[in-house]
This record gives sequence, structure tokens and C-alpha cells, in this order.
Amino acid sequence: MKIWLDGGLQDMESARVSVFDHGLTVGDGVFETVKAVGGRTFALTRHLDRLTRSARGLGLPEPDHAEVRRACAAVLDANPMPLGRLRITYTGGRGPLGSDRGEHGPTLVVALGDTSRRPDSTATITVPWTRNERGALTGLKTTSYAENVVALARAHRHGASEALFGNTVGQLCEGTGSNVFVVLDGEIHTPPLASGCLAGITRELTVDWTGAKETDLPLDVLERADEVFLTSTLRDVQAVHRVDDRELPGTAGPVTAKAMRIFAERAGDDLDP
Ligand code: PLP
Repeated sequence: MKIWLDGGLQDMESARVSVFDHGLTVGDGVFETVKAVGGRTFALTRHLDRLTRSARGLGLPEPDHAEVRRACAAVLDANPMPLGRLRITYTGGRGPLGSDRGEHGPTLVVALGDTSRRPDSTATITVPWTRNERGALTGLKTTSYAENVVALARAHRHGASEALFGNTVGQLCEGTGSNVFVVLDGEIHTPPLASGCLAGITRELTVDWTGAKETDLPLDVLERADEVFLTSTLRDVQAVHRVDDRELPGTAGPVTAKAMRIFAERAGDDLDP
């Protein structure tokens, strides 16, 4: 397996990043996960734009899109795979302990992992912790993901694959690695970006393609929604059949099934050249 590091391809086994890289020591980094189908990326331009927004938010130098594109293409060429996930990691780089920022320029790593298609539906839990809708990192896709790791571990202990967060004012926000949608009286709703959720690329496409509304929703909407579904790069549109102890009917309700169909049709035609 080849990865991209320090401007070129390297063997994954021997590639090395400094133990003083600020991405490791203080989580000063941003990332993207990009789907690759048959060696072609999906929505890479949107991912690069979000990478830049996240980098700006942390005050990192702006990533060079041409280099990241070159890196993605090289990694995909070197590791043929029917369905994969490119992981782009971009950090503040190496610097002395206690310094604000790396002193040798940013680190860019592009790696590829294989992935399997997710099941059409999944179980979720809600967690007692809140997303901060007004924090310095709100809406940025940073490598400071430990809170998500803790919440996801709790979900796994409860036989679920995703944990859903409310925000500090009791509104529904998002999952650890997904956005959330609910169906009420036949209409699809998802929390607005002001709820503190990530501007998910799958969320944005789903809103455009299904006409879903961005609505402030109390967390307890999950107790009465007719249907619930998740969106993310790796899940696409995925129905939710359980939230905590509440079972939702069937694998996917009719509105979710339609959203899944629309997404599969539109996204299937939309791979990058
Ligand atoms: N919310 C969070 C916290 C995420 O980490 C992700 C993706 O990793 C998403 C939402 C979904 O975003 P996307 O559809 O761009 O994958």
C-alpha cells in the first residue's frame, strides 16, 4: 500500500511523520474523507473547498489544491480498489513542544483504505454530551475527534453504529460522523448549520436533491419523527431503524427509501472525471 507524504508516494509501512507533529501532539490539523469508486473520486472539489475552510478556521496555511489532487490521483493509481476511502490529513506540521504551530510547514498525508457498502439501515443512540454550536472549532473538520471516538464507543456498546448529539440549547445537531434528517408529516427536515453540525457534503446534496428543509429541531423530535435517516460520505443515505429504545418501522420508511433512491441515482452519475 502506497501513501502520499512529503510530496511523493511512499510505502505505508515505512512512511514516517515526526512525533512532534502538531497534528499528533495537539490535534492541530484538518481532514477529509473522500469516497473513491473504481479509482474515481466523488465530490473532490467540495471536499477540497471544505478542507480549505477548515484550515482557514484553524489559521493553517491554505492547502494547495493542485497538490492534494495530484496526491489523491497518485494514491488511487498506486492502489487499485473497487470502493475505497481516501483520507486527506493536513496538519500544522512539526514544531517544538509548547510552540503554537509547527515550524517546518504543514504535513500533508493522503492514504487509502478499503470500505464496504454500509447496510441500508442502522441503529443509533443519543448521547448525554452536547455539541457546542458556538465554539472556535464549530463546523470545522479538525483532527480533534476524540469526543466523537468516545461517543461512538458508547454507541457500539449499545449495539448501535452511530451516536447522535444535541447542542447546548437542546436542539438536534448531528452524529459523530454523519448528519441527521427526520421525516415529519411526509416532509424531510435537517438541523441548520447554526445548530453546530458539520456542513456535510452528503447533507448538502441531499438537501438539494430532495428539497429537505433546514429547521431548528428539538432533540426530542427523535421520539416522534415518522422516519429518521443519516447522511455521510461513507453511509450515503442510510435509514435509522432504532434510536435508543425506540424502534422505527421497517428497514426504511417510504420517504427515506425515496431519498436513498434519489441519492443513489444522482450520485452514481456524478463521479469526478
Ligand atoms: N458530521 C461529522 C461530525 C462528520 O465527521 C461527517 C463526516 O465525516 C459528517 C457530518 C458527514 O459529512 P460528509 O457528508 O461530508 O461525509
